[in-house]
Amino acid sequence: MKILRVALDVPLPKLFDYAAEEASEGDIGCRVAVPFGNRSLAGVIVEVAAATDVPAGKLRAAGPILDDMPPLTREWLALARFAAEYYQRPLGEVIHAALPPRLRGPRPLRLPPAAYAITVAGRAALETLRPRAHARRAILERLAGGPAPAAALASGPALRVLVRDGLVIAVAPPRAAAQFLEEYVLTPEQAWAVAAITRALDRYEPFLLAGVTSSGKTEVYLYCVAQALGRGRQALLLVPEINLTPQLAEALERRFPGARVVTLTSALAANERAERWLAAQAGDADVVLGTRLAVFAPLPNLGLVVVDEEHDASFKQQDGVRYSARDLAVYRAHVANVPVVLGSATPSLESWAHARSGRYRLLEMSERARPGSRLPEVRLVDTGVDRAIDGLSAALADAIQSRLDRGEQSLVFLNRRGYAPVLVCGACGWMSGCPRCAAHLVLHTADRRLRCHHCGREEPIPRHCPTCGNVDLTAFGRGTQRLEETLAARFPRARLLRIDSDSTRAKGRWAAMRGAIAAGDAQILLGTQILAKGHDFPAVTLVGVVNADAALVAADYRAPERLFSQLYQVGGRAGRAQAPGEVLIQTRFPQHPLYQALVRHQFAPFAETQLAERRDAGFPPFVHEAVLRAESDTMPRAVAFLERALAAAPERGEAVSLFDPVPMSLARLAGRSRAQVLAQARSRRALQAFLGEWSRTLYGLRAGDVRWHLDVDPIEF
Ligand SMILES: [Zn+2]
Ligand SMILES: [Zn+2]
Repeated sequence: MKILRVALDVPLPKLFDYAAEEASEGDIGCRVAVPFGNRSLAGVIVEVAAATDVPAGKLRAAGPILDDMPPLTREWLALARFAAEYYQRPLGEVIHAALPPRLRGPRPLRLPPAAYAITVAGRAALETLRPRAHARRAILERLAGGPAPAAALASGPALRVLVRDGLVIAVAPPRAAAQFLEEYVLTPEQAWAVAAITRALDRYEPFLLAGVTSSGKTEVYLYCVAQALGRGRQALLLVPEINLTPQLAEALERRFPGARVVTLTSALAANERAERWLAAQAGDADVVLGTRLAVFAPLPNLGLVVVDEEHDASFKQQDGVRYSARDLAVYRAHVANVPVVLGSATPSLESWAHARSGRYRLLEMSERARPGSRLPEVRLVDTGVDRAIDGLSAALADAIQSRLDRGEQSLVFLNRRGYAPVLVCGACGWMSGCPRCAAHLVLHTADRRLRCHHCGREEPIPRHCPTCGNVDLTAFGRGTQRLEETLAARFPRARLLRIDSDSTRAKGRWAAMRGAIAAGDAQILLGTQILAKGHDFPAVTLVGVVNADAALVAADYRAPERLFSQLYQVGGRAGRAQAPGEVLIQTRFPQHPLYQALVRHQFAPFAETQLAERRDAGFPPFVHEAVLRAESDTMPRAVAFLERALAAAPERGEAVSLFDPVPMSLARLAGRSRAQVLAQARSRRALQAFLGEWSRTLYGLRAGDVRWHLDVDPIEF
């Protein structure tokens, strides 16, 4: 008898032992069905042992080992183990979250085969088939010419009969060898970056590819992918958002005819996601492109890892296993002994600091790839002098008008959706607040609702003040819907397109809008950060930025970094083609160093001042952080749990500091009160050692209705 040590999706940081008649090291990484309480669960075998501490009477027998998935490799399990230890979650939870949903349950997955071929018996049967068996004959005749994908064969019932009778068998889909179409001449900077990265293809080396917008980072990725594929390896490309996958997938498919490019995102149908995962695991997918969850794609021949827009906060998972896909991608490349490329126009300060210290190799690209294309001119509009009327300064209005006259497009950036952030009663001071969150209800006039942007609660707009009955309620502040109204009144003949998560919610809307923009059917684009990310708008020659100052005074020390990156990205939309671009930023603080750095297009000096401030203040990356969060129906209960957690914290000397419990900046969300304790350490190792011990004691605390979790390297407070 053998003992299977199984990782299960159970909130306990341990493996579970089961007895198996027969098992070997070869079963490590396989799915197995096991009894748990009175349920049946599926887990992954991570060890096969000869003995167990579980008393014989309590040891239960494992169910069948499921053969629907090849075993996960040791390299993959090492990644999962690292994520579990680093982010302080049970290994079973990490593995379960990484697997596609169809491979999480105890029932074996049976996917329909992707392609079929005819057998010798099938060829013989072509001679003897009854004349009226039209459907079966059609399939056999089609396959007599060679294997075909399932989609090319009609009639499910006839196919099933042929498979049952052994006349047709399922096979791997036929495919041509991958090629690469060069069709582009690299600039000297691009060629230098490609050479540096491809020289490292047989070893681990992390690169930070810092290139100004339009410097052609994507071409660098494509040429490096070509080199990896040429060596028979697979490439992994991560992007921060689902929205960014179609255009990159299209570029990959066009430039690599014959290659299998697989997109992995949470938006896929369950079978599709499982099928693509298995294609990656079988080594059949050449390139896996996806959002953060794709960092766990099984890639037995991994040769290159790329993380595009590496600064983007979307790479950090904000619930469940709170991992950073960017950081795991670096670890993964290390385990696989392959290079990893982190690309951005505005790198995260963490990555920048690593490049400064020599841990990452910095590859800078300072030229735009298209000949003659220049960086846009950035101008600051002092709204203390040129007062904004309904959000629009005279300078910005004039600039938009001149674009309309010349038949060019303008983009107005306001990172706040809805009509106004709050509805106010001038008589008594009532404000529209969410009853479930410590937040305002946002006024949406397009569909006449008040809406909470945190929990999604909706209410009709009240006819009068709920407190004093005053009927004259005021919309306070400005969102995209309100600015749309202003622009429509100011430029009545212009075709205006509002682009935010409200107007793009319906499936296919954003793609349709991009089509309309490309076709020149819109003259003024107005929108939120959706517009700032990675899309090309060649006819846009003006970018106007409205109301960005709020982030300068935010309590979150990461706010300036995010604002700089956002404005830099959105400014980069201007003048990408031949026409020079202009960026107008409306601000009350034109002397602010952040805006001055934008005017000079200088990321490096901005990053240096930010890093200096963080060093003085003792913020990351100069210290390492984790938070213990607790949420409950009431704040006192959440805080009481944290007090007990502090009392139970292990001895830590001076290496780790623990702070007092405080409410989170959004203290109440969806009816639950939220508080947290911050842990800080100069040494990552000291913090990890402390967290490992602390989290074991936390699992032993009685929590009642309190839900808690640890967040390592948090970005939300
Ligand atoms: Zn009132
Ligand atoms: Zn709410």
